Amino acid sequence: MEVEPCRLCGGDGRIGNALGHSTATCPSCHGSGRRAEMSPGFHDVTKTKPSHYRPAAVAPAGPKVPVTAEGTQLAAEVSACATLGTDAKTRLIAEIVNHESTHGRCTKTFLKKVRKQTRPG
Ligand SMILES: [Zn+2]
Repeated sequence: MEVEPCRLCGGDGRIGNALGHSTATCPSCHGSGRRAEMSPGFHDVTKTKPSHYRPAAVAPAGPKVPVTAEGTQLAAEVSACATLGTDAKTRLIAEIVNHESTHGRCTKTFLKKVRKQTRPG
């Protein structure tokens, strides 16, 4: 029964580099010239199944909304603003949510700053 030759080196156990000036031991068969797949114990039984991987907890998708009364009011003002584009509104509301999460509420300065942007001129 003939042994199947290594698919990488064709059975000679050595492979040439791109320029063909030197040869190196075949990384697939380690110089034996035989197919690595034929070796006993080739199958890695410790291989982790994909199902073992649990995706990291991700923040729930979808738009985040302010939770404070001031933030909700401000977000409503931003949404109702006729002069702001959708991108700007989304950015401002995200800013409100972010501000709330860091400050616990909307500061007067912040309310002023955002309201300024919702008003033309
Ligand atoms: Zn080989």
